[in-house]
Amino acid sequence: AYTTEPGQDSDLTSRTREPEWEDNIGYFIKKKLSVWCGQVDGQWELGTILSTSGDQACVLLSNATSINVPTEELLPANPDVLDGVEDLIQLSYLNEPSILHSLQYRYSRDMIYSKAGPVLVAINPFKDTQIYGSDVITSYRNRAASSPHVYTTADTAYNEMMRDEVNQSIIISGESGAGKTETAKIAMQYLAALGGGSTVGIEHEILQTSCILEAFGNSKTSRNDNSSRFGKFIEIHFCTSGKICGAKVQTCKKSESRVVQLAMGERSYHVFYQLCAGAPSPLQERLNLKLAHEYNYLNQSECLMIDGVDDAKRFNRLLDALNIVRISTEDQEEMFAVLAAVLWLGNVTFKVTDSENHVDVIDDEAVTTAARLMGCTTVDLMLVLSTHKIVAGKDTISKKLTLQQATDTRDALAKFLYAGLFDWLVEQINKSLEMGKQCTGKSINILDIYGFESFKKNSFEQFCINYANERLQQHFNRHLFKLEQEDYETDGIDWTRIDFEDNEDCVNVIEKKPLGILSLLDEESNFPKATDLTFADKLKHHLSANPCFRGERDGSFSLCHYAGEVLYDTSGFLEKNRDPVLPDLIQFLSSTGCNLPLLFASRILSQSPKAGTTSLNRLCSIDSQKQSVGSKFKGQLFNLMHQLETTKPHFIRCIKPNSKQLPGLYEEDLVLQQLRCCGVIEVVRISRSGYPTRMPHKDFAERYGFLLTDENASKDPSSTSVAVLQQFNILPEMYQVGYTKLYLRTGQIATLENERKQL
Ligand code: ATP
Ligand code: MG
Repeated sequence: AYTTEPGQDSDLTSRTREPEWEDNIGYFIKKKLSVWCGQVDGQWELGTILSTSGDQACVLLSNATSINVPTEELLPANPDVLDGVEDLIQLSYLNEPSILHSLQYRYSRDMIYSKAGPVLVAINPFKDTQIYGSDVITSYRNRAASSPHVYTTADTAYNEMMRDEVNQSIIISGESGAGKTETAKIAMQYLAALGGGSTVGIEHEILQTSCILEAFGNSKTSRNDNSSRFGKFIEIHFCTSGKICGAKVQTCKKSESRVVQLAMGERSYHVFYQLCAGAPSPLQERLNLKLAHEYNYLNQSECLMIDGVDDAKRFNRLLDALNIVRISTEDQEEMFAVLAAVLWLGNVTFKVTDSENHVDVIDDEAVTTAARLMGCTTVDLMLVLSTHKIVAGKDTISKKLTLQQATDTRDALAKFLYAGLFDWLVEQINKSLEMGKQCTGKSINILDIYGFESFKKNSFEQFCINYANERLQQHFNRHLFKLEQEDYETDGIDWTRIDFEDNEDCVNVIEKKPLGILSLLDEESNFPKATDLTFADKLKHHLSANPCFRGERDGSFSLCHYAGEVLYDTSGFLEKNRDPVLPDLIQFLSSTGCNLPLLFASRILSQSPKAGTTSLNRLCSIDSQKQSVGSKFKGQLFNLMHQLETTKPHFIRCIKPNSKQLPGLYEEDLVLQQLRCCGVIEVVRISRSGYPTRMPHKDFAERYGFLLTDENASKDPSSTSVAVLQQFNILPEMYQVGYTKLYLRTGQIATLENERKQL
């Protein structure tokens, strides 16, 4: 068996190299121990050091060639016996190549889950693995299986909720295609199974919501065939008996032009293709539905199908799910009419009528069908798409739109309809999942939110997403590092301080008032003469002192995010932040004859800063004061963070092993970059040197005190705790006794829990 030799138990990462490693090279040579040797292509190869001279080493690689490299390029490798450890904490050497190797070792054997201290690391297998389903759930539930798994995380969250009566959250992060949404579903399946796993009832309904939300909120992108275009926060509520009794979904939708504009090879939301492929003929006739390729909004990207996906079948599944969550047939019909209206709007065309490019709508099947589906007259729809009302004193004048303006109005109407439909749907789902009376108020929340994004060109959307991730990272840091450190220190625990990267500077540069990016953006947005360039100048002027900010020329700026530097192009920032809702469109929608105004009532009202206002005229006139997109996003994010802060978090980091969505392919660079982005490497270092389990003496004594065999033991909680630990031979280096709490190293509480269960 492997025994620890001198110098082998140091925490080394390639970023913080400690002197011991260099001092121990002689030892590695003597014992012929393996080292990682950095290659020019950035990969790492295993080898053994033959000799050194100065700062150069001669290394024999595993392919039998020997090379000379600077000793700087070498890092210690772990002994074979540690291959595939369940928790990275168990590694003797924690450098990046060792962590990469350990995860790859497991991944190639279909062990896609590993622990990194308290964090679960999940590597997307991109294939079906035999590690889910009711039998596996049962064995995790009965503790017959305990290897790292989403089930273990869900089980821990559940047990802690029941035991401590504290709400829990499972925070799932990772980049697009890493497996967040699948992971969230797997966790939900586990929690649903705890209630007996029946195929009726609220547990079943909750699982069906995924199918609906994915149809309306996911689409095929270049990075993921089923990419969520919204963030999701689902609260699962439990009753005293420990069964699910209700749920609530909150979504945060990125403002996206996907409904009207597609990048090559990408699709719009799945539901459009599903409807076109799967609607039964009576519905098809009522909606005058054509095939997907006949709609301009869908056929522009040369991508109508997804490999291995049958949209017609999916449509039937969607119908089943809608029925299960009790969306009435009338409402379903209304929804499909809105979807078809959106598609037909995309086919509406214009003809130029004068030299100034003013247009009329061409009166054809597209505009007539769209009008019919929206419940208005063709004339009214044609008018709203080609004219603009201006209030001049007491009169309202109609002014013709140019081709560009008319096209924008048409697209704005389509997007508004779709966004309204999505919000309405979420509301209906929530009504149907509303918790019953026997609810205890205890919940497990699951957060599935889009990960950090950095493209060649980054705009306002990426800025918002990365801001949210920056906040989540702060939560992660605070929870795992800061709070622990502070706690140890205030409780008088001897613990060597470990530095970690805090991202407070970056959060500040974004949200500080009055001189942060969001405040400055709002200020410029309210200033009619401002442009994206004046905004960029303003940022440069006020923020250049912050180390995280750099103003570039040509109106862009870069931010040093925790996951790397991102360059943002400010063009479009002001317009996107203002998100002008066209008063003409709102007025128009509220006057149409169908049920649409009802469907959208809540959305239209929510545009008003003063809730309860029903007069549409008034609504439109105060429209200019409405909250900016940036402020609204910040508000939503603050609410979310507030909700998370009152819960005990459990983190799952999803990793995408390759960018081709293929099984069995492990691209080291890509994995490493993600591990760095989500702080996995730091977390391992910290957890190993810390005491992850903390319990107030009183709680500990209450829970385990009765195990004491010595009747005369002291009644004082802290002495009781120590007596329990001694009785079960827990080694002194495995715990520390603080003023108020007991601190235990990983794994110790499990021993005690087992003892407790056996009684
Ligand atoms: P996005 O941010 O784009 O929404 P995501 O992180 O939510 O991405 P998913 O949609 O969950 O990614 O996963 C992408 C695909 O990877 C899935 O459609 C599925 O094919 C595969 N996948 C993910 N997790 C698993 C898993 N545990 N087992 C098998 N396949 C998986
Ligand atoms: Mg997703």
